[in-house]
Order: sequence, then structure tokens, then C-alpha cells
Amino acid sequence: MPELPEVETIRSQLAPRLAGRTLVRVEILDPRLTRPIDLFEVAEALEGDSILAVERRGKYLALRLESGLALLVHLRMTGSFGFEPTSHERAVLELDDGTRLAYRDVRRFGTWLVLEDAELGTYLAGKNGPEPLSASFTGGWLGGRLAVRRAPVKAVLLDQRVVAGLGNIYADEALWRARVNPERPARDLDAEEIRRLHRAIRAALRTGIERQGSTLSQYRTPEGSRGGMQDEFRVYGRDGLPCPRCGTPIAKTRVGGRGTWYCPRCQPATGD
Ligand SMILES: [Zn+2]
Repeated sequence: MPELPEVETIRSQLAPRLAGRTLVRVEILDPRLTRPIDLFEVAEALEGDSILAVERRGKYLALRLESGLALLVHLRMTGSFGFEPTSHERAVLELDDGTRLAYRDVRRFGTWLVLEDAELGTYLAGKNGPEPLSASFTGGWLGGRLAVRRAPVKAVLLDQRVVAGLGNIYADEALWRARVNPERPARDLDAEEIRRLHRAIRAALRTGIERQGSTLSQYRTPEGSRGGMQDEFRVYGRDGLPCPRCGTPIAKTRVGGRGTWYCPRCQPATGD
């Protein structure tokens, strides 16, 4: 599933091609994308409008339109955008400069929602905590959210209302960087561990953005390239391989139903 670095990479490649352009034709091919709203109704609302900006909040992409509407896209498991024709196209946007942008989604969990621009902030604020790379994401905020939860710290990090945009990959990477065991009850972390975790979340996400995200199976950037972050993983998907810090084989477990990788030595179950 695309996480913050992947969605940010997509946003940064779409923005220069889309901003200022008019949607001359909008074709939505899959009713699941817009339900419960009829796909023709959504296409009609978008057609003829111009794109002011392409923004990101958490894992959401928002196309802000001149009319005061916004198209809010969540890629879920396998959604992606591409400038080249491809298989599994669920929607196609044609721009006034001849650009054809396809939305591809193999597993069809992605969503397109049209909102009034005025509703957008409230809608997104209800689903997302602070942006982890913004000044509003502080150690104090993170500590406050962890202190009231007895669930495993990794499960709490995946809650988008705690940290917007973090998912399975970058949560594992951040916990390894912070030397915190993913199964520790969130409220048991001490101030020093929270400080390390806060810094590690930002560092893991920044590395992901620099590498244009990670390519596991479906993900491609809109320009068609693969991300490079998968070559930078310290723990994710690396069970049995040596920990880059101490050489101990990386272990795999499940936390909250999600595959979870960690170093048994650097991330001891009892904390440090
Ligand atoms: Zn280690």
C-alpha cells in the first residue's frame, strides 16, 4: 500500500503536469471508484473544470479545482496514476494540452470523492493527525497519543489520527531506527524512547521521499519509474538477513495482523 513517501512522490510528479490545466474529458470506468455516488455524476462534475493545485494530506491526494470543488483520491492497496496507457485502467483524465492521465487499480479498493473545497479541510482533519514532517508533529503530541494506549506501539503508529501517512513499511523502519520493539505497549515507552521514535519517524519518511518511495509490486511513479526505497530497507521484508546495526538476523512476527520485521537484539521486548 502506498504510504506517505509514495503518495508524496506521485503528488510531486503530477503537480507540474496538472496544475493550471483544464479537464477536457473525464472517463470513470469502475463504479466502485465513486460509490455510493454514480460515476457519471462525478465525471460530469469534474469535466470542464481546471486544476489549481495537487496536494497531499496523509495518504490522500487532493486535486483542487477552480470551481471550488476538490477531487480527493485515496489509492488504498494498488491505486496509481500513469501518463502511459496500461492495464486495469479505472479512470482516464484528458487535459487541454493533450495529456492523458490514467488511474490504474488492480485490486479496486481506491476511492474518488468530490467535495466542496470548504469541506475538504474538515474531512481530512477528521481522518488524519498531524503531518509528520510538519512543525505540528511534535514529540509532545506523539507522547500524548502513545501514553493513553495499551495496544502495541506499532499498531498505534498505524492509526492515521496519530501520525498521518505512516503505514506498515515506514512504521517498521522507524521502530528499528528508534530501537523500540514493535510489540511494546505504547504507554510503556519512556521519554527517551518517544524522543528517538519521533525523530526516527521523520528520518524514515524523509529517506523514503528522497528515494521516490518503495516499489514492492504494483507501485510505479506517474512517470513510470520504480521507487528506490526498497533497496534502503533496514528491516522490512528482511527476515533472516543481518541487522545493519548489529548483525543479528532480523525476525518476523505479526502485530495487529500485519507482517512486522524487527531486530531481536536492537529492539528488545522489555525496552532498555
Ligand atoms: Zn540489531
